[in-house]
Amino acid sequence: MRAVVIEEHGGPEVLHAGKVADPEVGPLEVLIKVWACGVNHVDLYLRQGIIGASIPLPAVPGREVAGEIMELGELVTDFEIGDRVTVLPRFPCGNCEPCRIGEEGMCLKAASIPGGYAEYTKAPASSLVILQPEVSYDMAAGVALAYLTAWHMLISRAKVRSGEDVLVHAAGSGVGSGAIQIAKLAGARVIATAGSDTKVERAKQIGADEAINYSKEDFQDAVIGLTEGRGVDVVIEHIGAETWEKSIGCLAFNGRLITSGAHTGVYSRVNIQEIFIKQLSLIGSYLGTRHELAQLLKAVARGRITPVIDSVYPLEGAHEAHRMMEERRQFGKLLIKPWLK
Ligand SMILES: [Zn+2]
Repeated sequence: MRAVVIEEHGGPEVLHAGKVADPEVGPLEVLIKVWACGVNHVDLYLRQGIIGASIPLPAVPGREVAGEIMELGELVTDFEIGDRVTVLPRFPCGNCEPCRIGEEGMCLKAASIPGGYAEYTKAPASSLVILQPEVSYDMAAGVALAYLTAWHMLISRAKVRSGEDVLVHAAGSGVGSGAIQIAKLAGARVIATAGSDTKVERAKQIGADEAINYSKEDFQDAVIGLTEGRGVDVVIEHIGAETWEKSIGCLAFNGRLITSGAHTGVYSRVNIQEIFIKQLSLIGSYLGTRHELAQLLKAVARGRITPVIDSVYPLEGAHEAHRMMEERRQFGKLLIKPWLK
């Protein structure tokens, strides 16, 4: 089959479309024809060799897959050939302590989907969610990792409530564009940040009540101004060292900072006094569960959440998609479509 193969770590130029062996399906797995695959920071890390040092090269990137079941393992009974599905990006083991308490996203032994920038991939049947007719492959591949992350952050970890003020960083990112819509669905007032005036406008179009151009004004000052000096109840923090200290500074008393990513650096200063005097909570969040993915897709099917797709690329365009993400030029999701000519 055709796939994007990483043979050596490096810049976007190391991504090449080539031939690899078809996946071989085990008894509890299915073969999926990949109709769309979202591009995520984790793909960039894999390419750069930042994480996944243990993943032997050559490797195929892509963790956010939607497609059609082409073959069933001999023990798979709950699905049929032709079913339209999306896949939980990490396959939980089902047996470790986090799995047993229903926190599959934290599974200690999870395996990652073996590459969605390919004509076919495989997944355990236990990680699949069926797509309702209203949900296209592009929509599903636009939400299965990024919006699932945002859902878990807001609904399960922050437990955001109606009437709260929520700050969402990077409205143009996958997590950002998802978080704006999910926070609105939960009844919050959303303040978003973005790096250009065009993105500020787009952020408002997808539901943000307020949007700040962080390249023109200090986002912390702007947030304090927009909340009459109070600060926000929740910060959706997925940027890292570049924004962390000011994100904490944006919190109101009893505020919660939820973090799920740190692509600008993993170390930052914190003012300990500020944390205890204001009774702040710093909360980690990682991916989400199959149940949450199903809930999220229900909201998509009902038109309550609309995946924001910036652009789509054939396998040969994967390097362009990576460059676009590294330069923060997109608004919404970038998708690889292996069957696009
Ligand atoms: Zn587990």
